[in-house]
Amino acid sequence: MLLSYLAIAIATHLLVSLAQTLMHYKLGHHAYGGKLFRNHINFHHTYYSKDHLVSASYLGEEGNNTPYFLIPVGGVGAGAYVALPFDLFVAHAVASAASFYVHVLFDREYHVAGSWLQKFAWFRRKQELHFVHHLHANRNFGVVHFFWDRLLGTYRSPPPAPAQRRRETVMVAAK
Ligand SMILES: [Zn+2]
Ligand SMILES: [Zn+2]
Repeated sequence: MLLSYLAIAIATHLLVSLAQTLMHYKLGHHAYGGKLFRNHINFHHTYYSKDHLVSASYLGEEGNNTPYFLIPVGGVGAGAYVALPFDLFVAHAVASAASFYVHVLFDREYHVAGSWLQKFAWFRRKQELHFVHHLHANRNFGVVHFFWDRLLGTYRSPPPAPAQRRRETVMVAAK
């Protein structure tokens, strides 16, 4: 039984993550996304671009698209309510809320200077991948998982860290 809760939780999280990636890619970055497109480009990508990728507090109150994301999440939830036994539906609902929260949190904290999540190397790595998106708006649409971008063919690695770059320059110079 525990295993089926776990399977539902993982499937739910992957589904939320895929939906976020596709909505960001297809609606946030294409004119047919309408208001979602205008909000995303005029606010998020305007607040944070090139040499201004972080701010003391998150600038996202204006033109925030997060509420729209509740529409597909609610749709899937309604389907799950009909299709699943009640205890599994509860597992789905809890996982869905948690996954939604993590997506919103990461999206904010990537842009907050000195975020508490910075102490984790895995978070800094994800942050770099997200910053690549702000420099190359046709790459890295994931927020939590970037393997979706590998699958979609939109993945781009961050530039090498300064220390690594220096090492490479030394190696080239030594040749
Ligand atoms: Zn974007
Ligand atoms: Zn961003």
